[in-house]
Amino acid sequence: MQNKINQFLKLQKIDIEIAEFEKSFENLPKEISVMEAKIDSENIKVNNLKEKIDKLEKEMKNYNNEIDSIDNKINEQEEKLFSINSTKEFEALQKETGDLKRLKLEIEDSQIKTMESTDNSKKALAEMEQFFLSEIEPLRTQIEELKSKLKEYTDKKDKLSVERDNKTKSLDQDFLIRYESLMVDNPPVIVPAIGETCSYCCLTIPPQTYIKVLQKTEVVSCPHCRKILIPEENPDE
Ligand SMILES: [Zn+2]
Repeated sequence: MQNKINQFLKLQKIDIEIAEFEKSFENLPKEISVMEAKIDSENIKVNNLKEKIDKLEKEMKNYNNEIDSIDNKINEQEEKLFSINSTKEFEALQKETGDLKRLKLEIEDSQIKTMESTDNSKKALAEMEQFFLSEIEPLRTQIEELKSKLKEYTDKKDKLSVERDNKTKSLDQDFLIRYESLMVDNPPVIVPAIGETCSYCCLTIPPQTYIKVLQKTEVVSCPHCRKILIPEENPDE
C-alpha cells in the first residue's frame, strides 16, 4: 500500500508541475481574442465611415445633377419668354421659373450641408486611419508573437502529458481510475491529514477514518472533499 501511495505521490508531483505550467499561459487565448476583437471593431468603424463618405459623395453628385437639370429648364423657359405674346402665359411661365429658382436655392443649401458633413467625415477618417496605423496595426505583430508562444507552450504541455501517460501505464489501474476522477478538480489529489483534519478542505475527519489513514492498509478518502488522505509524516519520495 505504502509503495502504491508513493508511486502516486510521484505522479502527483508531475501533475502539479503540469497544472502550474498550464496556469502560466492560461490567459494567452483570452489576450489574443481581446486583441483580435479590438482590430475587428476598429476595422468596422473605419469601414462604416468610408461607407458614410461614399453615400455623402453620391448625394453630392445627385444634387449637382439636379441643379444642372434645373438650370437647363430655367434657360429653356427664359428663352421661351421672348416668344410668348399672351400676358397670362407669360406670367404663368415666369412663376414657374421663379419656383425653379427657389428649388435651386433649397438644393444648394442642402448641398452646403452635405459638403460640410463630407469634410468632417473625411477629417475623422484621416484621424482614424492614423490611429489604426499607430495603435491597431502593431497588435497584429503582438498577436502573432502570442500565438507562437501559445503554440510553443501547448506543444510542451502535450509532450509532458505524453510522458505522464507513459508513466501511468505501470501503475495500479484501479487506483489510477480513482486518482484520475479526483484530478478533474485539479491536483493535489493525495493530501496529508493533519491530526483529525483534512489539510485540503480543513474539515474534521471521523476518528475511525483517521485511524485507517495511519494504518496505511487501504486507500482512504476525505469524507468531505474526497481527496485521498495520507499520514502527515509521509515522505515525499
Ligand atoms: Zn477534505
